[in-house]
Amino acid sequence: MLRTILLGPPGAGKGTQAVKIVEKYHIPHISTGDIFRENIKKGTELGKKAQEYMNRGELVPDDLVIDIATTRLLEDDCKNGFLLDGFPRTVYQAEKLDAFLAANGMKLDKVIDIAVEKEELITRLTGRRVCKGCGASYHIVNIPSKQEGICDTCGGELFQRADDNVETVTNRIEVYNNQTMPLVDYYEKAGVIVHVDGAESLDNVFNAIVDALGE
Ligand code: AMP
Repeated sequence: MLRTILLGPPGAGKGTQAVKIVEKYHIPHISTGDIFRENIKKGTELGKKAQEYMNRGELVPDDLVIDIATTRLLEDDCKNGFLLDGFPRTVYQAEKLDAFLAANGMKLDKVIDIAVEKEELITRLTGRRVCKGCGASYHIVNIPSKQEGICDTCGGELFQRADDNVETVTNRIEVYNNQTMPLVDYYEKAGVIVHVDGAESLDNVFNAIVDALGE
């Protein structure tokens, strides 16, 4: 049983670590950003509502996100735990999540805060490429695919997310600092937070997370 949240600015490596964490602990990976992107791809009403905020690097309105996240958390596969990635992102969302968990007899085990400095985040995000097929993440300099533009794992096409350009990235980091950073304090007070240095290598970050979560 493991109920946990990955906290950290865009580009901290939450998505990459999430893949490794859910594989080790056999819990579902719930990324509200992924849910929005799937809805945009399918052209749903939700996708249409979310897209304009996302393209500007702003947060989608709280009530919309809370509804989506809590609905997902009620699904059967979350009975033995979950990993939340990108939710909550505001104190209001965190309070609503707490209320939801309490009402359903659940409690958070750990919140993992991955910290990385701003310049490094901008380099990582603007160079990021994602596979259309399997969602694997690359970086044009740091983690290039063997063949340019093609995923090593599934052969899918690599693309740049619409919100990974310099302008939007800068705004997303600003939004993180203003609206999401207060959650570090929030979960510090709740006594559930652990801090991990996201400037370390992928493996070192993962090992630090496993140390914090336990085997
Ligand atoms: P991510 O993939 O987590 O970087 O999310 C991409 C974008 O989706 C964000 O920049 C927001 O516009 C939106 N989004 C994802 N999760 C949330 C959330 N919890 N609250 C508000 N907006 C969100």
